[in-house]
Amino acid sequence: MATIISGKELSAKLKAALAEEVKTFPARYGRVPHLVVILVGEDPGSVSYVTGKAKACEAVGIRNTTLRRSVDITEEELLSLIRDLNADPEVDGILVQLPLPRHISEAKVIETISREKDVDGFHPLNVAALWQKQPCVLPCTPKGIIKMLKEAGVSLAGKRAVVIGRSNIVGLPVAKLLLDENATVTIAHSRTQNLAELTRSAEILVVAIGRPKFVTADMVGEGAVVIDVGVNRDPETGKLCGDVDYAAVEPKASVITPVPGGVGPMTITCLMENTVECFKARF
Ligand code: NAP
Repeated sequence: MATIISGKELSAKLKAALAEEVKTFPARYGRVPHLVVILVGEDPGSVSYVTGKAKACEAVGIRNTTLRRSVDITEEELLSLIRDLNADPEVDGILVQLPLPRHISEAKVIETISREKDVDGFHPLNVAALWQKQPCVLPCTPKGIIKMLKEAGVSLAGKRAVVIGRSNIVGLPVAKLLLDENATVTIAHSRTQNLAELTRSAEILVVAIGRPKFVTADMVGEGAVVIDVGVNRDPETGKLCGDVDYAAVEPKASVITPVPGGVGPMTITCLMENTVECFKARF
């Protein structure tokens, strides 16, 4: 039986501690942190993520403003809104919910958010700082994954880690954070050959692909630590599921994260931490 890392439980603990800290801010700083989330359009997935972020803000005592804009907003209108928020001294964090409609450049949007208010850690200067081991806002999902591994007492130094996925928001940064913890990291992707052979050799396997139950038991080594980042709909049941076939893999793993209730809640909790960090850095 694997140890199950409950992201839900760890999140509740971290958010409670953060809420205690935020309570002291009005006396210390004269106000609480303020996170502005911009939602373009009405994609159901994005609406649900934005609602989750608003709930977490409420639990922690962070002021939250959600700005909803029509899917027809022009790129310039969105950039101009971001510039106004950059200049607003009462705003500490700005998050534009991705993905954006195709006529808007995500790269331009990310670049326009001031680095100091980039609570997602996606700004090119934050990314550069991460790769140069300089202080920076860490991207939320990778930061949450490392916290979960530490909470479970998993030692990373010298371990063979395989990350499946090389996206800017998960695969690449989590690989870098694992490397910073002295793991020996291999990044796999859609062109990787003999993937199962590679993943079977992993002591730590992080899966961020976006394909329901892609990782099967024969792809996992006995006693591996398995972190499932995927958020998918099971085509058979319609329920949420990860990239890992949990029922089949769990008996082989030593440590595993569930979906839902694993990496997802930790991502939102790290967003709360990042908002508090950006707020404090401004005083
Ligand atoms: P993405 O940008 O679509 O990247 C997917 C990666 O998986 C790519 O690098 C791709 O390789 C690789 N891949 C696709 N098919 C593969 C295959 N058959 N074999 C090996 N590699 C394959 O996705 P993402 O944004 O990183 O997200 C990944 C998953 O995590 C999604 O389910 C997403 O919803 C979820 N997610 C969850 C959270 C959370 O908080 N829980 C946060 C972010 C994302 P190529 O580069 O070669 O195309």
